Amino acid sequence: MTDNKLLDVASPKRTKEVIQKHGFTLKKSLGQNFLTDANILHKIAASANLSTDKGALEIGPGIGALTQQLAKVAGKVVAVEIDGRLLPILEETLSAYPHASVVHGDVLKLDLDKLWREHFAECSKVSVVANLPYYVTTPIIMKLLEQKLPLEYIVVMIQREVAERMSARPGGKEYGSLSIAVQYYAEPDIVAIVPPTVFIPQPNVDSAVIRLKLRETPPVQVEDEALFFEVVHACFAQRRKTISNNLLASLFDKASKPAMEAILASCGIEPQRRGETLSIAEYASLANAILAYRQQQR
Ligand code: SAM
Repeated sequence: MTDNKLLDVASPKRTKEVIQKHGFTLKKSLGQNFLTDANILHKIAASANLSTDKGALEIGPGIGALTQQLAKVAGKVVAVEIDGRLLPILEETLSAYPHASVVHGDVLKLDLDKLWREHFAECSKVSVVANLPYYVTTPIIMKLLEQKLPLEYIVVMIQREVAERMSARPGGKEYGSLSIAVQYYAEPDIVAIVPPTVFIPQPNVDSAVIRLKLRETPPVQVEDEALFFEVVHACFAQRRKTISNNLLASLFDKASKPAMEAILASCGIEPQRRGETLSIAEYASLANAILAYRQQQR
């Protein structure tokens, strides 16, 4: 039986030892900033409310520091790692955890439905828990949300600035299409702000652990999701412009301007407002009214 403590890599000293032993060189282009603080690793794992009947999907295990913490609390852990050079290291650091497996691949290209069927069929609930590679944070989170996977939580370390945008409320400069996309699918909550000093190598910015609790149903009734997100993107296309000017640049034109003004009026939205002042409910009613107008035009 292997001694789990001897394999634990949750400290700067052990991380450096493992990296040196395997002659591993960190790749900035893959967002390889390894987390070396045991307290933060525990906090991330604890925030996902895992237990032996639940599963955890980790994206980017690195040398396995967080994977080990997840394996201590979850019944099943699957870690997707793009960098093949880390596989022999993970084989060693995860050798005491047979219920943790590594899938070699790019999470953005992976068939996650298939991964679910193959690995998580027995789990009562599954959460994504990860210290994400920062160069692809948003595409990864949006893939997880848009695919409507049966997830309980997404608990991830990301750049602080991105976490603040995801959890922003209307009215501020952080609020934008990312806030609306995330909050449409989930309830965000920033669990911790993390300084650069706990990583090897240190990133240039502060980080944050954000927990997204997946919603069973969206917070607003939207008739056509694609159109809803199109309207949101259109209204934020140029932040300094009014929604009226932004909508005229994409969804409406000069000829349909009176119709657009009537739609805005029917939703109780002043055309001079800027995109950052509209709530998700207002975007939903605007998108639903545009849909009704288009249906009438047919
Ligand atoms: N989990 C480790 C930790 O906390 O120390 C490593 C986190 S490091 C910030 C990000 C990890 O994601 C790296 O191991 C990197 O190789 C991996 N990675 C980068 N892009 C990826 C992708 N598209 N799919 C899967 N893994 C990826």
